[in-house]
Amino acid sequence: MTENSTAFLRTPRIVPRDGHGISRKDISPNALRVLYRLREGGFAAFLVGGAVRDLLICGHPKDFDVATDATPEQVKSLFRNCRLIGRRFRLAHVIYGREIIEVATFRANEDDGSGDRETVGEGRLSRDNVYGTVEDDAVRRDFTANALYYAIEDFSVRDYVGGFEDVQARVLKLIGDPESRYREDPVRMLRAVRLASKLDFSIDPAAAEPLPRLSELLSGAAPARLFDECLKMFMAGHAEKSFLALERHGLLAALFPETAKALATNRSGALRATLLQALRSTDGRVAEDKPVTPAFLFAALLWPAYCRELAVLQKAGVDPLAAQQRAADRVTLHQAERIALPRRFSQPMQEIWLLQPRFSQRQRKRVFRLLAHPRFRAAFDFLELRGSSSPEIAEDVAFWREAQLQSPEHLAESLDGSRAGASESHHDPDISSPPRKRRRRRRPSGGSQPTGTPD
Ligand code: ATP
Ligand code: MG
Repeated sequence: MTENSTAFLRTPRIVPRDGHGISRKDISPNALRVLYRLREGGFAAFLVGGAVRDLLICGHPKDFDVATDATPEQVKSLFRNCRLIGRRFRLAHVIYGREIIEVATFRANEDDGSGDRETVGEGRLSRDNVYGTVEDDAVRRDFTANALYYAIEDFSVRDYVGGFEDVQARVLKLIGDPESRYREDPVRMLRAVRLASKLDFSIDPAAAEPLPRLSELLSGAAPARLFDECLKMFMAGHAEKSFLALERHGLLAALFPETAKALATNRSGALRATLLQALRSTDGRVAEDKPVTPAFLFAALLWPAYCRELAVLQKAGVDPLAAQQRAADRVTLHQAERIALPRRFSQPMQEIWLLQPRFSQRQRKRVFRLLAHPRFRAAFDFLELRGSSSPEIAEDVAFWREAQLQSPEHLAESLDGSRAGASESHHDPDISSPPRKRRRRRRPSGGSQPTGTPD
């Protein structure tokens, strides 16, 4: 721990039960069970972190974390339904059906030589299992608002770092010296942006200032952690705000280098408009409790990068179909260096991209094949999304919306009836063959060329 953050420690403020609004009825009964059991076992037991913060602002915590002076082994001996996990942080999980109460032993960042601690690179922590006091535990947390302790013994809130006031003022302040705290763990930069967006908090100027300067530290963070953080940023109902905050604080290029590049060179702004619309509609779905998938989300986040890569390959004269696959592969591969998008998501993401040109085809057999494609629905949703900022594909959107509603017989009839029209411009036999030149000339931004390519 840096000298600065230890210096942050002040005389604890104890906010009694009548000085705050946290009521036991808002706390998960399982978390209460854990707190009481630890207490009965003779240990200190606090509700801590995001749950206390969220309860103070009348939010609904998504999980309840507990901090204690019991070691993980001691916690395990108190609960039959307990599992110890983690290497970097050894934690106890107390399991109640689908709910897991995470119980962490007070930890210190200070290394007195007795613990198990490793540092790599420029002050980055790789392992910290040094147990400490509740004060130590408070100062090693990231933001003051995340370092409040609700004590089950007297229902008070204990504040060692000024977090109570900061929650009232709705501001995120880093504990200690911002730059060294970001160097210790660069993911804290994303947490600042994510929590500010989620909670509608401002970021304290001292915590915001280093963000653009230190953004490249994110390239040293574990890609798997960045993927988790992305899910929390973009799949929890505040995707658009998080994205705008990433841009504002200069962090976008560190996470999505090629997307940032494509957005910067897309003068019409169509790519950015499509992306923001995707994030907005994801937020809408979350608000309505509809499912959202990382495949669709990443298809949208990386669409600008894909369009840019595709344009480059097409300009170089690569055959359109080969160019599509190659652009998809390149973008996926480059992005994987930063964010570990699992294959079960990257594959459908690519399919969503690769199906886009097929929406401009009207030949009967192809229409039915596309409708039966397992990724049809996601790809159509993506087409609709593109349509919101690319009016030139409005006709395709309307056709496929209608096609889904019609009975197969009726659809076949109407396709046969319009043979002389657009459908005739496509040749039949091989689904994988590229569209005819005449078609591509007529609709330069449809067909194999996605809308909004850099202009
Ligand atoms: P959310 O509501 O999204 O769960 P949270 O603040 O609870 O937000 P968690 O990831 O659940 O976030 O972490 C729980 C607590 O652990 C935080 O409130 C904070 O005190 C501490 N913490 C988490 N990540 C870090 C970190 N990178 N550095 C320091 N402390 C951290
Ligand atoms: Mg939490």
